[in-house]
Amino acid sequence: MSIRIRTISNKSVNCYLLNQEDRFFLIDTGFSDKFEEIENELRIAGVDKNNLELIILTHGDTDHSGNSSILRDKFGAKILMHQADSGIVKTGDMKVNRKEKPDKLSLIFKIFTIFGKEAPFEAFQPDILVSGDDSLKQYRLDANLLHIPGHSKGSIAILTKENDLFCGDLMINITKPKLHYLIDNMELTKESINKLRNEEIDNVYPGHGKPFKMTEFLEKYED
Ligand SMILES: [Zn+2]
Repeated sequence: MSIRIRTISNKSVNCYLLNQEDRFFLIDTGFSDKFEEIENELRIAGVDKNNLELIILTHGDTDHSGNSSILRDKFGAKILMHQADSGIVKTGDMKVNRKEKPDKLSLIFKIFTIFGKEAPFEAFQPDILVSGDDSLKQYRLDANLLHIPGHSKGSIAILTKENDLFCGDLMINITKPKLHYLIDNMELTKESINKLRNEEIDNVYPGHGKPFKMTEFLEKYED
């Protein structure tokens, strides 16, 4: 049975709703001040209290995790994420478990962060914490979780059996496929990209920007 993918854009963030058989899986939850929009999109797609199996957070950052707590309450789904980013969602502080000074932070991101209005964040306790790679078969999704630290220590990707990769903020495609503007740890980022090289990946669905082909990224990527 194939997996259907629906993109739910939430300001600059992409959330992805996966549907396999009668189950739904939501990857990331967007900014908290856009809750009604995302709830509406979920209901249109057929999500209800009985069929949202999991909320999977690619990492803890508040633009990706902002509606997790309220969606858990509304739909009764469990929140899964990597343990290394759990401190971010428990406090709303994106500096938790990151370097004092990130290895790379481009100017455009600094400007965006200074002038961007931050949405209020409701801190929460995740339900399921993973510590490395894992299979999602136990939740009835034909996909694997891959630990891909770099943007944050607890960044994870979801790779489906159809070779679609949901990469969170490891890579973006605003103007072209490339690494994210904010790299906490460059060494880990390179290791994560090399790890992905060994996987069979066709389309990449990033946390920001449009989907792209993994080959398109790797052609231009220089280690
Ligand atoms: Zn982000």
